[in-house]
Amino acid sequence: MRSSFRLIRLAGIDIGIHFSWIFIFVLLSGSLAMAFFPRLYPEWDTTTYWITGVAATLLLFVSVLLHELAHSLVARARGIPVHSITLFMLGGVSNLEEEPQEPRAEFTMSIVGPLASLALAGIFWALLQLVQDTRTPLAGMLAYLALINFILAVFNLLPGYPLDGGRVLRAIIWNRTGNLVRATNIAATVGRIMGWTLIALGLIQVLAGILGGLWLAIIGWFLSSAADASRRELTAREQLSGVRVTEVVKAVPGSISPDTPVAELVSSVFRGQHSRAVPVCRDDRVLGIVTVTDVRELPRDKWEETPVSEIMTREPLHSVRSTDDLNTAMRLIAKHDINQVLVLDGMRCAGLVTRADILNYLQLSHELGLRRR
Ligand SMILES: [Zn+2]
Repeated sequence: MRSSFRLIRLAGIDIGIHFSWIFIFVLLSGSLAMAFFPRLYPEWDTTTYWITGVAATLLLFVSVLLHELAHSLVARARGIPVHSITLFMLGGVSNLEEEPQEPRAEFTMSIVGPLASLALAGIFWALLQLVQDTRTPLAGMLAYLALINFILAVFNLLPGYPLDGGRVLRAIIWNRTGNLVRATNIAATVGRIMGWTLIALGLIQVLAGILGGLWLAIIGWFLSSAADASRRELTAREQLSGVRVTEVVKAVPGSISPDTPVAELVSSVFRGQHSRAVPVCRDDRVLGIVTVTDVRELPRDKWEETPVSEIMTREPLHSVRSTDDLNTAMRLIAKHDINQVLVLDGMRCAGLVTRADILNYLQLSHELGLRRR
């Protein structure tokens, strides 16, 4: 996820914060210091409200992090690589490299998050029992953290995909039916219904003069659109799987020799064929790839004298085999945030698959109603 910065590295996983968290931090510590604690503990002074508010928000942040870490560590134990965790507006996202391949793994991975929150709620509650005077800021903070972690556990267990509970539901249906697509559709539909219900409840509250209902509506909207997005993504993935890379491979650009001057590359390939990238090959062996971006970095007066070999990208060269399916290509493109991958037949270059090719393919299948069985 972009627009986030790295905070620390824990157990080999990068922990990042999305910029929206700064906004949430201010909002949350502010509402704790100015509304929540003053209402429950009117005898504290202003400084105490703020120190307790900020400390409680920081510890909530740590709690959310532990919830995500539970997901990530179990995922990794199940053989799914985890790059990073990003904490953002409404919680966290563990950036897994791939989805679980079987229902049991998904079930375990999903349920440990809410279980971690539940355990944290228990720990904070137990600590609260050790405090003698329940009117102190420490007691207030512990009570808040026990409550909020309990709410987080319960909310995440709601059976709407992509919440943790929705993933648990999906894993159960997937296990029963053996059909991941059907399981996702059902769990995502529950997610949408749940989202709309939260929006409706929130709006009713707002109409009744309770402004807090706005939060509920925002969470509901977030949930229903996330459910929608996950379903669309799965449909796209379904359509791409089983489609050979060769079906969309660009036949036109062919390849270019490393000795070709950049000026000729621009006039014959980029201008002439409206391509933005071309493989560089000699005797059918791939040496690299050259893109419009590479050319842009070279001053214009050097175009005539510079051969393509001097500006091309030699590595990392991301490639797929022509027998691979489009999903493999799409995953590489998404993972490395690039615009195209090379298609190789052994060491021979068979062409390129670009992001645009794949999107065109999806668009065309959609418009013509071509659905794979
Ligand atoms: Zn979770």
